[in-house]
Parts: sequence; C-alpha cells; structure tokens
Amino acid sequence: MSYFRDSKRIVIKVGTSTLTHNTGHLNLRRIEKLVKVLSDIKNSGIRIVLVSSGAVSAGVAKVGFGKIPSSPEEKQAMAAIGQSELMKLYDKLFSDYGHTVAQMLLTKEVLTNPERRLSAENTFRRLLEMNCVPIVNENDPISTDELTKFGGNDILSAYVAQLCNADVLLNLSDVDGLYDSDPRKNPEAHLIERVDQIDELLCASAGGSGTERGTGGMIAKLKAAKMTTDCGIPMFILNGQDPEILYTLLDGGHVGTYFTADKSLRRAEENDD
Ligand code: GLU
Repeated sequence: MSYFRDSKRIVIKVGTSTLTHNTGHLNLRRIEKLVKVLSDIKNSGIRIVLVSSGAVSAGVAKVGFGKIPSSPEEKQAMAAIGQSELMKLYDKLFSDYGHTVAQMLLTKEVLTNPERRLSAENTFRRLLEMNCVPIVNENDPISTDELTKFGGNDILSAYVAQLCNADVLLNLSDVDGLYDSDPRKNPEAHLIERVDQIDELLCASAGGSGTERGTGGMIAKLKAAKMTTDCGIPMFILNGQDPEILYTLLDGGHVGTYFTADKSLRRAEENDD
C-alpha cells in the first residue's frame, strides 16, 4: 500500500534532537539530507510544509551559552537568535534545489481567534499555491503563557496539519516509533506498527519525555496523533536519523508507527491546484 499515493499536501515535523548534534549546534549533514529528500518529494508534485524545531538549541550554540537556559526570557532570546540561523540555512539549502521557503511563526492565540486562524489558513494556502515551502515554528520569543504557547512542536504540527488540511502528518523523531513499553528501559519492547485507536491504555504504556535539548516525548506525540486523527488526518512517527526513510514510505513500504484516520472526518477539499 502506498500511503502517499493520493497525498497532495504533507506536513513534516522535525525535532531538535534530529536537527542538532549533542553540542547543540546544527547537524548540517542531516539537515542537508533532509532538505534534499524534501525537495525531491516536492519535485514529485507533493506540496510540503515543514514544522522545524531547533531554534533554541541553535541560538544557545551560537552564543556559546553551554546549555539550554532555564529562565523563560533567556530561552526566548536564544530562540530569536537561533530562528534566523535556522532560516538562513533552510533558505540556502532549499534554494540550491530551486525551492522558495517562507517563514511562518505561530502562537496558540492564532488558532483560538477565528479571524487570525482564517488568515493563517489563507496564507498557508496561498504559499502552497505559489509553490513555496512554508517553514513553521512556534513564535517562541513572544509566547509566554497558556494562551500563547502550544506546549511543543509536536502539538504545533498537529494544528498546522489541520490549518493546511494536510493529507498526512509525518513526525520525524529520534525514536523508531511507538513501542509497547519504554525501549530505553525495556530491551524487549516491541514497535507498534499500526494504531487504530488512541486510548488511555496506549498512552499509559508510552512513557518517556523528550531529550534534554528537545521538548517532545511520546506523550506529546500521542496527543498530536489524537488531534490529527480526530480530524481525519493520519500520522506517522518515524526515525529522522536518516531522512531517506521518507522514500521508503513514498515507495509504498512501511516504517515507524502509522496512526490511521477515518477520512470521512476530513475537512472538505479546497480547490488549490
Ligand atoms: N520551538 C522550539 C525551538 O525551535 C522547539 C519546541 C519543541 O522542540 O517542541 O527550539
């Protein structure tokens, strides 16, 4: 089965641990590979939206801060520094493959205010019509509280998938997918290839917060999966260590964990072709 056969719009979320080295500096080799694969997917006629983390880590590395600061103000300042570093690199690399990037920084307020939400939806639609690659992150430097913060890019990517009416959300992480118990503690843990229903039992088995530099963890990913599948959009959790894993999916193979969705729940298709 080809999961991408009928896909016209894909949202790809990439986490900090995939985009950076343990030093916090950007992992150039991996980012170059990711951009090449995404450019190729785009060349095949699929529109892509990239939700990229890594701003805080890149900022910390750039100013030589040593570790992620605990104070919100400092973290926000690091995000402001790192975001431009990230976009500079994405702009350069996507341009090398003939693609145009567009930065979209969102806060949660955008989604709770109907006018702003519509405006964000319209901008995404227009950017995709113009054949651009929207690159999305949380607007960290101005997101401070429950009203404005998404609580991590796993959740942000679930909202973005809805805003763009994506056909599928691909969450590229530092794990192979969802396991039946925490693989860092239990060597016997098994990868779950397909999930048809996200219930409390499943969430209870998915322990583990994210790494020191990222914020995600499996609970956030499951929450994101529930949000997207409830809107009729399937989601995959995949290991982003080798971005070419996306070709396996494109070619009809199975990797990672597939969260199925009932397509009848999808928002009516816009005519954007
Ligand atoms: N927005 C944060 C950043 O760019 C990442 C949040 C997350 O990893 O979930 O650093």
